[in-house]
Amino acid sequence: MYISLTVLGTATPYPQPDRPCSGYLLRTATAQVWVDAGPGSLANLLRHTRLEALDAIWISHLHADHDTDLLAAYYALARGGLELGEPLAVYAPPTLGDRLAGFLRQDSPSFLAGTLRLHELRDGHRLDLDGLSLTARSVQHPVEAYALRAEYRGRTIVYSGDSGPCPALDDAAVGADLLLCETGADRAVGEGPSGHHTPEDAGALARRARVGRLVVTHIAPNVVPEEAIRRAAMVFGGPTEQAREGQTYTVS
Ligand SMILES: [Zn+2]
Repeated sequence: MYISLTVLGTATPYPQPDRPCSGYLLRTATAQVWVDAGPGSLANLLRHTRLEALDAIWISHLHADHDTDLLAAYYALARGGLELGEPLAVYAPPTLGDRLAGFLRQDSPSFLAGTLRLHELRDGHRLDLDGLSLTARSVQHPVEAYALRAEYRGRTIVYSGDSGPCPALDDAAVGADLLLCETGADRAVGEGPSGHHTPEDAGALARRARVGRLVVTHIAPNVVPEEAIRRAAMVFGGPTEQAREGQTYTVS
């Protein structure tokens, strides 16, 4: 009995060599979900599983560093000769279909039929995949964005998506065994909400929510990762580490 999170990509706002943008693979023994499809993450996903073996794709928000490999996934499913029993379910904020259609100059999202089946997320949206429960919480970002609470038989992994500190994220993170939190902000220097966490914000969230382990990802490009970890750990006071491509965290 386990739930695991494999890191596919952590970069923002654009991919680096061997470091795609946001992407993760959530797994239990019987379910597999690709969480966020940042540019480059599909290639790393294929190190661990096959696209047609996924149960779902779950997208936190429609910023390019979290969703543009959906175009690559569509091409794979439409033209890659993959054996797909039924269209792959994609859970994402509304308007994803229109965006994909716009990019590919299609009149409507109906061109996706047979490849991707889109479902709209909303606050409190819940998906159950053979005992793996995925709950979306609406969080604070310049665009509609969701955090993810994944639970499987009493084990919990929480992903902030992109978000500034907010009560819904506190709620989602409570008691998590593992909190994957973004630190897309360096320092909030009186500029008002940025829609991202600073490393200190991430540490404070982990402490308030009493999580078991904090994994920091989506680190602001002007911050040295080791510094971000040190700053977050100082506030949290618990196990803190940097999300690295290829790493799998298992909670069992
Ligand atoms: Zn974003």
